[in-house]
Amino acid sequence: MRLVSTRTDKKDKVKRVNLSTALLNPSSSYGGLYAPMKLPKINAKMWQEFCELSYEKLAINIISLFKFDIDEASFKKALKRYKNFDRPNTPVEFKKLDKNLYINELYHGPTRAFKDMALQPFGEILSALAQKRGEKYLIMCATSGDTGPATLQTFADAKNIKAVCLYPDKGTSEVQRLQMVCMQGENLKVFGIKGDFDDAQRALKTLLASRNFKTQLAENHFKLSAANSVNFGRILFQIIYHAYAYARLLKLGKLGKNDTFDVIVPSGNFGNALGAYYAKKMGAKINKIKIVSNANNILTELFTNGIYDMRGKTLIKTISPAMDILLSSNVERLLFDKFGAIRTKELMDELNKNKFYKLNKDELEALKSDFKADFCTDKECENYIKFWAKKGAAIDPHTATCLKMVEQSRINVITSTAHWVKFTPSMMKACDIKVKGGEKDALKKMSEILNDKVPNTINALFDAPVLHPEVIEQNAIENKILEWIKI
Ligand SMILES: *Cc1c(COP(=O)(O)O)cnc(C)c1O
Repeated sequence: MRLVSTRTDKKDKVKRVNLSTALLNPSSSYGGLYAPMKLPKINAKMWQEFCELSYEKLAINIISLFKFDIDEASFKKALKRYKNFDRPNTPVEFKKLDKNLYINELYHGPTRAFKDMALQPFGEILSALAQKRGEKYLIMCATSGDTGPATLQTFADAKNIKAVCLYPDKGTSEVQRLQMVCMQGENLKVFGIKGDFDDAQRALKTLLASRNFKTQLAENHFKLSAANSVNFGRILFQIIYHAYAYARLLKLGKLGKNDTFDVIVPSGNFGNALGAYYAKKMGAKINKIKIVSNANNILTELFTNGIYDMRGKTLIKTISPAMDILLSSNVERLLFDKFGAIRTKELMDELNKNKFYKLNKDELEALKSDFKADFCTDKECENYIKFWAKKGAAIDPHTATCLKMVEQSRINVITSTAHWVKFTPSMMKACDIKVKGGEKDALKKMSEILNDKVPNTINALFDAPVLHPEVIEQNAIENKILEWIKI
């Protein structure tokens, strides 16, 4: 199977590419992304077999259905990365939280964020492709805290790849900062940027637009690629854990043959939610995908009124920073799947020009047939954290937003995206707890209250050597990166 551009013009032919091309060069024509034209189907009989499989086998079976140009052995090798997760045979932990309420814990990887689920195998594949082609790639990311560590970790010492991360100085939790500045790997570089996440992101955009930067990269035989969820390689691995949730429910006997369940996703760039949508289309019996936002609730308006409206809006800082997003890139892939590439281009052009688009009535109905949306304020979120902490469950501020959309009358699966240790200050505030000292003391106290161990790798960070101490001005980045590339 090949992938197509999400945007096209009436007079243009559809551009198709192989998966390997889409992975290495993730932007397609007219500024669009790559997406599958059609998804393979998993029928009831196949599900009966699939629900007996290990996570890794399930993943291979699902990926094979796509018939991509990358062979099964490469995918198998990539999935071996899950051996570094807490439980080597099951990267995901699927648990019951309450009556009719399940939690799909996706944060048991090396950096304790669900980003590991897709980035770990994706990094392996990307490096293998680069080696096969004899090309060198530079991966850059700006992070509010979770993407950075996960990107660095997946590419540490990967051949033919260099990775740079920009984080806002004082804009991440201490654990997240340490995860980046202490990361080992000859091919990695991390810079703190003076300013907030917007500044870090702007710095990256400026860099990507710089002619000098591109020329110099080319002279040094480096190409640019991207490891964010604009890359279809990330999305592919995000279908699997939603399918796994369905397989678990089947196996546990919680769903009859024609019963459905709802998936609740704390959404930012919409990659996770898109994975659920693809899983549904492939045959997982999902009724509604519930999109939860924080106070940055643009998606709530989209799925309720059919309006994507960024006019006059600025980012609101919340206790769930990985969801502080105005432009959710992966919504584009949903528009493409529902309305085709010509309409998607039209809508995205409007968004670029006017910071706004409005779907017609039929289009809105089409979205509503698969999605529901709502948002959760910080105050509500803190109440959920506190409530569940008392019941003995440690739920991080992103996952906690999901609790807003639980309906007791049907089976709901919450997609849990981070370990609480990454957001200790917010956890403390939610639980009305204060300690003297720094984040390390806070972690210890919180761990006692939640009766949940702090992972060794997290404790070790406080004694690890800082390998990337630099905090720089935005305008110094270009030279700093080029200097490093040339070494
Ligand atoms: C990235 C992230 C999200 C948002 O996921 P998207 O796929 O971008 O919608 C939610 N929670 C956490 C903890 C994250 O790191």
